Amino acid sequence: MNAEGMNAPAGSTRVAAVIGCPVRHSLSPVMHNAAYRALGLDWVYVAFEVPPGSGRRAIEAMRALGIDGLNVTMPHKSDVAGAVDRLTPAALALGAVNTVTRGPRRDELIGDNTDGAGFIDTLRIDEGFEPAGRRCVVVGAGGAGRAVVRALADAGAVAITVVNRTPDRAVAAAALAGAVGRVGRPADAAEADLVVNATPLGMRGGDAELPVDPVALGPGQLVVDLVYHPVVTPLVDAARARGAAATNGLGMLIHQAAHAIRLWTGEDPPLEVMSAAALGELARRG
Ligand code: NAP
Repeated sequence: MNAEGMNAPAGSTRVAAVIGCPVRHSLSPVMHNAAYRALGLDWVYVAFEVPPGSGRRAIEAMRALGIDGLNVTMPHKSDVAGAVDRLTPAALALGAVNTVTRGPRRDELIGDNTDGAGFIDTLRIDEGFEPAGRRCVVVGAGGAGRAVVRALADAGAVAITVVNRTPDRAVAAAALAGAVGRVGRPADAAEADLVVNATPLGMRGGDAELPVDPVALGPGQLVVDLVYHPVVTPLVDAARARGAAATNGLGMLIHQAAHAIRLWTGEDPPLEVMSAAALGELARRG
């Protein structure tokens, strides 16, 4: 580490990275590098802008360069699922990889998907919300929505209703929840203990439209918006105004990064350091 507290790479430094396109806005380098510094690890984390269609080649580069851990974001998650040597059950079910780890034999690459686990961790650890026995509505049926649906079913939710603009994708996502999954409408949020926004609605610079009508929200409910920029999203703001508990997607992001750190380094991730680094970076961006 140098005088500025930055990781100072040396010949022995181990490298982790994220691939995506676009990836320059990713909070992962800031969170991971803060964690490595706090843990005193000789690791650095960098971002590689990899064009669409080059996910498989990036995995070959990981093998050749000896990169120790890789995160994968849009649009490479399914290409990478087809390029690694083995998939965890979560990655296999979702057909998508967000974390690549080296196996006990270092030449073996294992594809995992930690989005769902990160989501369940933020429910339990940050919000004190136990999903077992709960009724849930998930708006959105893309990569994040599918990971959340599967993880909620695994965690024992008793009803998971998927709401999505494109009906076919809602059907496919609901199927990931097995017998407790079904397709529904935004108004179903009124009957839910947990409401999740897994669409980009509310992202900075995007549409101010809400994924559900706030009249469906109220006291006793938890609303989780997977969007985290702005920190108080339009949905979080509207849900709180109606008396519901509400949080953004930063917790999920931090906990999926924590899973990667555990998998790659075997260390216990410093969650508060990672959260402070992410919030500091978001504040810096305005
Ligand atoms: P994705 O695979 O592209 O899926 C996007 C989903 O949003 C689809 O269901 C899509 O519906 C729906 N959607 C998009 N635009 C919409 C609109 N204008 N009106 C209604 N529905 C719309 O994306 P993703 O990876 O799942 O990400 C979804 C959101 O979650 C993004 O905001 C992303 O930043 C966030 N996210 C957060 C975390 C975290 O850690 N906090 C992790 C992953 C993702 P159709 O099926 O009809 O196209």
